[in-house]
Amino acid sequence: MSWTSLSQVYSPMSGSPNVDDLIWTNQVSYNYQLPTQNYINFSFDTSAAAAVPGNVGVSEMTGDQQNAVRGVLNYIHNVTGINFNETTGDSTAPVDMFFGYSGDFNNGWYGVDYNNITYGQDASSGSVSTLDIHDSILLNSNYDFLDSPGPGSVGYDTLLHEIGHALGLKNAEDGPNVLPANLDSPDITIMTNVVTADPGAPMNYGQFGSLDIAALNWLYGGDGVLGTYGLTVNSSGVPIAGGFNPLIAAQGAAGSSLNSLTTVATATPVAAGFTAVPNQQGQLVGLS
Ligand SMILES: [Zn+2]
Repeated sequence: MSWTSLSQVYSPMSGSPNVDDLIWTNQVSYNYQLPTQNYINFSFDTSAAAAVPGNVGVSEMTGDQQNAVRGVLNYIHNVTGINFNETTGDSTAPVDMFFGYSGDFNNGWYGVDYNNITYGQDASSGSVSTLDIHDSILLNSNYDFLDSPGPGSVGYDTLLHEIGHALGLKNAEDGPNVLPANLDSPDITIMTNVVTADPGAPMNYGQFGSLDIAALNWLYGGDGVLGTYGLTVNSSGVPIAGGFNPLIAAQGAAGSSLNSLTTVATATPVAAGFTAVPNQQGQLVGLS
């Protein structure tokens, strides 16, 4: 490919007011994985947990939690065009997003997303030749109400929030661009950390806010990973911003059919012809 440092594929600002208040800077979107892929694999197989601190144990999600994750991903497919494929975590279908359950991270958090980016560079040209993004999304087992996170529950909204992080969104209150307080509401964005004072009380959002959709429109363009719109590449493989998809004016406008969540059974071969440099690895560890 045609870039030589990770910063060349950090998510750029859109210039659109408030959209940039949700863009996680120094983050690389799933558009830029190498070898190129136009889908995101996910798994509940605990062997696929990665980038989780050593003092954080991970167990398998409950069946209800797994079904909730599948439902959330179906919804996200409908509003972003991103294809998600469930895998078993074996070597023939590497996992991008892992979903698990743990009681070992900050008890004040309902969920967490550990984001990790590794890359290798061609020894002679310096070009980035492998780029792997991995998110481990955990729900907190210290809260009983997260055991069955169906639509309209805190757990469902927590999954939306954490997957929002994995897709490149930050907390509305974090810098460098902070969402103005009058907009910092779950009615506008699920990336708010303005939560109810009554833990476990249903938030009942069950969907992204209009600002989330606008930010995801900038990153993915409503036509999925590496589509025409959103962050993508030109014909030479050079990262570009494909821009907002004008067809997405409001929530739910993108996509129309449910994803079948098919299992990817075949390997994506690693591109040959380069030498990975093991000591040139990037890592980002992220937000709650
Ligand atoms: Zn967060």
